[in-house]
Amino acid sequence: MTARRRVLISGASIAGPALAFWMERAAWDVTVIERAPELRAGGQNIDIRGAGREVVRRMGVEDAIRARNTREAGTRFIGTRGQTVASFPAGRDDTGGATAELEILRGELSRVLFDLTHERVEYRFGTTIRSIDDRGAGAHVTFDDGTDEQFDLVVIAEGMRSRTRRLIFPGVDPIVSKNMSTAYLTIPREPDDTDWWRWYTATGGRSISLRPDNLGTIRATLSYPTRGDERADTGDDDSGRSRDALLRRFADAGWQAPRVLREMAHAKEFYLDRVGQVHLDTWHRGSVALVGDAAYCASPLSGMGTTLSLVGAYVLAGELGRSTDVETALQRYEDILRPFVERAQDLPPGTPRLANPRSRAGRALFHGVLRAASSRAGRRLTTGLFRPPADTFALPDYG
Ligand SMILES: Cc1cc2nc3c(=O)[nH]c(=O)nc-3n(C[C@H](O)[C@H](O)[C@H](O)COP(=O)(O)OP(=O)(O)OC[C@H]3O[C@@H](n4cnc5c(N)ncnc54)[C@H](O)[C@@H]3O)c2cc1C
Repeated sequence: MTARRRVLISGASIAGPALAFWMERAAWDVTVIERAPELRAGGQNIDIRGAGREVVRRMGVEDAIRARNTREAGTRFIGTRGQTVASFPAGRDDTGGATAELEILRGELSRVLFDLTHERVEYRFGTTIRSIDDRGAGAHVTFDDGTDEQFDLVVIAEGMRSRTRRLIFPGVDPIVSKNMSTAYLTIPREPDDTDWWRWYTATGGRSISLRPDNLGTIRATLSYPTRGDERADTGDDDSGRSRDALLRRFADAGWQAPRVLREMAHAKEFYLDRVGQVHLDTWHRGSVALVGDAAYCASPLSGMGTTLSLVGAYVLAGELGRSTDVETALQRYEDILRPFVERAQDLPPGTPRLANPRSRAGRALFHGVLRAASSRAGRRLTTGLFRPPADTFALPDYG
């Protein structure tokens, strides 16, 4: 009997646990490490569309995800007096809608995938990779606690700002800024809140959005333009510095800004990040590969990040199951997936600038376009407006 091949996956959010599921099914011995001390619960609404939806069906978790659906009714653009400018109901099929038919909080999806895998996969929390010595047939990994182990394959699933990626591609900065930052926070639900994603456009390129969730709270975002070369505070910032900066930036923004800023002072879940994409010429080197946002983040603007992670994990494991030669499988994974990734990363012209106008005139124009698009006649012409290309990929059958 031949020994099971060993894979180490770094990152336990979406791509990591999804890959763990398929690798275990392909008879690999799977270890997942995660930098956080426990499974991270945070994150806002994410969409599962098209081919990503088919992957969760094949994993047998579509019903578990549906049971945790955020139940968002759709997307509503709000005017300066709080009035509805345009409404777009949630998608009614696998792919369409600014609000997808299958929407779930990131932390909830991560939990579903962890629950599905943890009995057959070893998870180690509070662990990171210090170094990787790629010796041709496999990689020797040293962890941050100084211990080391040998694996046939290492897969980095650490998200857009992956640090381990630098060990594989030193000197490469693959993040392309979209010149926008977004703060994510969870605030208490109030009686006047609705089940719609409400999106308010202030001037100065700023916007505020409020989204319902299935946990009885409201997920708020504050977005604003940043220059490509501007140093941004990112991550879970507890210093208060970025919150102070947001207080100043949104003080005169209008609509529900005072409420969101008031809640921000003590919001436990607060996360600020620069919106960006990851573009790399290759997603593997030797016995190390990348999957999910670490390899090809398309940004929240695309509505495709989670779908790409799920599909990427499926194809990567499928090709590794098909071939005994790791390098051949990694190259095929890339060849098969890259056209899909390129379509997902190809954002509509003017994104995100046109949806975040600087002036009052720009906002009036934006609202005029939305009003027309949401009318009955407009809907027929603009069905493709919120339809990311998630259904443009035929999932291979790996049996
Ligand atoms: C806390 C959080 C909140 C998010 N919120 C949103 C949101 O509101 N809206 C949205 O569209 N997308 C959000 N995302 C991103 C979204 O999850 C991804 O776009 C998509 O689902 C792809 O997931 P991924 O698994 O490739 O990467 P990610 O979801 O970014 O996960 C990467 C994982 O790797 C871990 N990690 C990072 N560095 C290391 C390291 N050196 N060693 C070990 N582990 C490491 C991280 O802790 C994380 O668990 C969020 C991600 C996180 C981690």
